[in-house]
Amino acid sequence: MTEIEVQVNKPIIEIASSAGWCFGVERIVEMAEKLLAQRAPDELVYCLGELIHNPQEVERLHARGMVFVKSHDDLPPLAPGTRRKVLIRAHGVAPAVKKILREKGYEIFDGTCPLVTIPHRFAREIVEQGYRLVIMGDREHPEIQGILGELEGLSVRVDVIPGPETEAIKALQLKASDRVGLISQTTHPFEKFAQLIGEVLKHSLEVKAYNTICQATFDRQDAIRELAQRCDLVIVIGGRNSSNTCRLAEIASQYTVCYHIEDASELKGAWLQGKRRIGISAGASTPTRCIEEVRATIEHLSESGRL
Ligand code: SF4
Repeated sequence: MTEIEVQVNKPIIEIASSAGWCFGVERIVEMAEKLLAQRAPDELVYCLGELIHNPQEVERLHARGMVFVKSHDDLPPLAPGTRRKVLIRAHGVAPAVKKILREKGYEIFDGTCPLVTIPHRFAREIVEQGYRLVIMGDREHPEIQGILGELEGLSVRVDVIPGPETEAIKALQLKASDRVGLISQTTHPFEKFAQLIGEVLKHSLEVKAYNTICQATFDRQDAIRELAQRCDLVIVIGGRNSSNTCRLAEIASQYTVCYHIEDASELKGAWLQGKRRIGISAGASTPTRCIEEVRATIEHLSESGRL
């Protein structure tokens, strides 16, 4: 009997040179772990909002005892002598929210990423110098809510727009005499911000722009752009509510086929069929173990000949 060797053409799997947890996320997950490890048996540790935009990680910390609440309104005032801790997530909150929590008697542990506080500072500076403030970002994102909260009480016009698209620029109703200050959400693409600067300058007198996009975002976006150009498929892992993960998927889609998944269970063999080089990247809230699980699942599907 002759043995026939079946050659299974396994794809090359490449992980982006910069992917997954950034330092701000590592920092707050460490803070959460520490608070949980140190709490007394009957002590509750709250987190205001989702700690990071990764449902699996939020679920893991919830299973370890962290209580997630959507808003400060969900936390009742404490009776005298009661101690409760609240962790503020990496995206930060408005100063008014911290004040309310203190008044209700909670002990605050502020995990706001130091890089998220930079746009807060520049927003204030722009407004105090008499410029119109325009923010590129998602108005509902907690980071933008934090910036707007920082300016509460000041009677100034602040516009939040998603990018340099014509409709967004029109909505600004710019005048030729306008002096405009621009900042961006830390996780938005730099190219869009650069384009926005040009568009706003076309319709105004002066533009003062601060680069508030964080280095981790730059690195991950550069890495996926480079990777996507030589892959025939890219898998991006991260929460669907994670702004920076959605941006990575957007960038990869400009160059190749891309799927955005939250974990390995969402991978479909059909996506991988005929693909020779598969790239993997992950948002700043995605733990390394999720990246490894996705790689292992692709390898498994490939080895079992299910591609
Ligand atoms: S993506 Fe950047 S700004 Fe956001 S938490 Fe990470 S390091 Fe901080």
